[in-house]
Amino acid sequence: MSTITERLNEAQARIDAAAALAGRVGESITLLAVSKTKPAEMIREAYLAGARDFGENYLQEGVDKIEALKHLDITWHFIGPLQSNKTRPVAEHFDWIHSVDRLKIAQRLSEQRPDNMAPLNVCIQVNISAEQSKSGVTPDQLPELAAQIAALPGLRLRGLMAIPAPESDPDRQRQALARMKHLFDTLRVGYPSLDTLSMGMSDDLEAAVAEGSTMVRIGTAIFGTRK
Ligand SMILES: *Cc1c(COP(=O)(O)O)cnc(C)c1O
Repeated sequence: MSTITERLNEAQARIDAAAALAGRVGESITLLAVSKTKPAEMIREAYLAGARDFGENYLQEGVDKIEALKHLDITWHFIGPLQSNKTRPVAEHFDWIHSVDRLKIAQRLSEQRPDNMAPLNVCIQVNISAEQSKSGVTPDQLPELAAQIAALPGLRLRGLMAIPAPESDPDRQRQALARMKHLFDTLRVGYPSLDTLSMGMSDDLEAAVAEGSTMVRIGTAIFGTRK
């Protein structure tokens, strides 16, 4: 079995190859290592191999790892669903959240962000495949929520995030990713400082890079399958 270091290097090589095919530079794409359910020791190994951005889905687990690894220079991303009564640990411990999809959550995160920390970086999650019971705003709800978030002092709007419905057909995979890129470019006309399009996971990172992703969230390909 290969080590985390080897798999991280392979994931980075996939990003670089996909970027080259698309006429982009690999450095314009951030690799977010998704470490949910994996122990702090594995995060430390990925860190020693060069990873600096880590994504967590579960609050208590994420906060425990942030505490355990606080001497490391890690940027922590919360990427899971969030209930509005659970915002405080995100506001107090994380650097980014990718899964904001309603104003109430954004307002609470902004109010609860400690004054001595930089504003919390925010991506708005879009339900790009229009799946029932999935998180995320619809494309037509996006402009209003973006304007509301941009006005909140404790937050810094950075861009958009999506988890497209699983698709085995690569063309259809790319259609949803292309719709995200279009939404992102359209939104950026009004907010030129937006710089993050968070899409692409272990199985679709090549397609996501081809369609303009700036941050791919990779779990299984680095840390192995989850129980
Ligand atoms: C788990 C997860 C990932 C990583 O998925 P893999 O298929 O393991 O790469 C990416 N994004 C989100 C939001 C996740 O929950």
